[in-house]
Amino acid sequence: MESELSEDKWKKKLTKEQYRVLREKGTEPAFRGKYWNHHEKGVYKCAGCGAPLFSSEEKFDSGTGWPSFDKPYDEANVKEQIDTSYDMKRTEVLCSNCGGHLGHVFNDGPNPTGCRYCINSISLDFQSKIKD
Ligand code: FE
Repeated sequence: MESELSEDKWKKKLTKEQYRVLREKGTEPAFRGKYWNHHEKGVYKCAGCGAPLFSSEEKFDSGTGWPSFDKPYDEANVKEQIDTSYDMKRTEVLCSNCGGHLGHVFNDGPNPTGCRYCINSISLDFQSKIKD
């Protein structure tokens, strides 16, 4: 299983920047990632393990410079945990399958969910259609 890869194997599998974000909980600079202004229809999969995480159907322009979604593709595919780093209380979003860091979720999103999943582009891998 992907989730059981050692950190050494992740280092080999991921680019340096992907490793920094996915495995070390880094953040890509705003307005620099490949998906903040991306509007094609399809599914955003985990760049670590390929699990489907977000759909273009739930993507919205948040103005933050990071791809933003009002809900996950499937709630079972992401997990959330409290993150108190940098003297803030935030809710971190991770891939359920491989534990990769995706970003954070905030409660200032659009209706009906009110959620804003603020996700690093580099943690995602867009696919215009899910492969069978
Ligand atoms: Fe994953």
